[in-house]
Amino acid sequence: MKAIQKQGTGRAAYAELPIPQCGPKDLLLKPLYSGICATDLHVLYHDLGQGDKPFPVVMGHEFSAVVAEVGSEVDGYIEGGTKIEAGHRVTVEPILPCGKCEYCHRGKVNLCPNMSHLGIYENGCYADFVSVPANRVHRLPDNLPDLAGALVEPLACAINFVDKARIQPGNSVVILGGGSIAQLTLQVALASGAGTVIVTDPVAKKRELALKIGAHAAIDPMREDVVSRVRELTGGGADIVIECVGVAATVSQMVQLVHRGGRCVMAGIPTGKIPMDLLDLVFGEIELVGVMATVWQFPRAMRMIELGRVDVRVALDKVVPFSQAIEGLKEAFESSEVGKVVIQHGA
Ligand SMILES: [Zn+2]
Ligand SMILES: [Zn+2]
Repeated sequence: MKAIQKQGTGRAAYAELPIPQCGPKDLLLKPLYSGICATDLHVLYHDLGQGDKPFPVVMGHEFSAVVAEVGSEVDGYIEGGTKIEAGHRVTVEPILPCGKCEYCHRGKVNLCPNMSHLGIYENGCYADFVSVPANRVHRLPDNLPDLAGALVEPLACAINFVDKARIQPGNSVVILGGGSIAQLTLQVALASGAGTVIVTDPVAKKRELALKIGAHAAIDPMREDVVSRVRELTGGGADIVIECVGVAATVSQMVQLVHRGGRCVMAGIPTGKIPMDLLDLVFGEIELVGVMATVWQFPRAMRMIELGRVDVRVALDKVVPFSQAIEGLKEAFESSEVGKVVIQHGA
């Protein structure tokens, strides 16, 4: 089968590999659409999570797929009591928890210190086939399109960000960044009853998209003073800030954007150390919360898409055939203009 491997820092290449064995508790899947996410770019270009992990690894972790084979010990039922058979369409939670530690026992599988992860430590979905543990698989509802199925994972992440933000009806929310995950977070925040929502991004196209989706203001941080604009628009500071970038400029600013008693959610993945002035955090009893991927948000994400509460396609920039996926990865990394890129398998 054909697969896209990370073979070194910044080096992705097509490889011819054997079709993976479907273990007794696994499902062998044939991917339909795969998303390119900032995490994949961090893995490829910044060696995220791969300090002591040898290359190569098949990349990719957000996808929809068809079940090709069901493992001999899979009892036919997966999450939600759904019977699973060959031919069913599915999506997959890419975190592979150990199932044995205290965090796993408490259901906090995204905090499992022994976790593996598709496309980072385990061979992922940028391939003709991928084998995954059956208990990480969700069947896609019939009315949820294949393409949208590849966007369930990032939407589930956005729901986790909003869960951590604990948005209450009418809360003012600042979303730092206008990338695809930020645009999904914006939609979830609005659907959750947020009041004034403000998005910041230096790229005009992303600000325009945020306004189209329903943001009340979109600030260009290159031309405007974000702190004073946010204070002006929210009457002294927002209730909540959700940071979706992970760079020094936005992270160091978070605490200044909320009012005393406000909450900052750190969703972006920083690639290095970021200095911050935390005096206001102490004096203002400001909460600073980290958020990591997803934990049980997949069913809610699928329901929000089905019910039309969120339109995952708005964050989608382009669909590239599998044969051009490596160019797609490069473009997504190099251009700040590009939103979500999705790979179409078998094309
Ligand atoms: Zn992702
Ligand atoms: Zn564990």
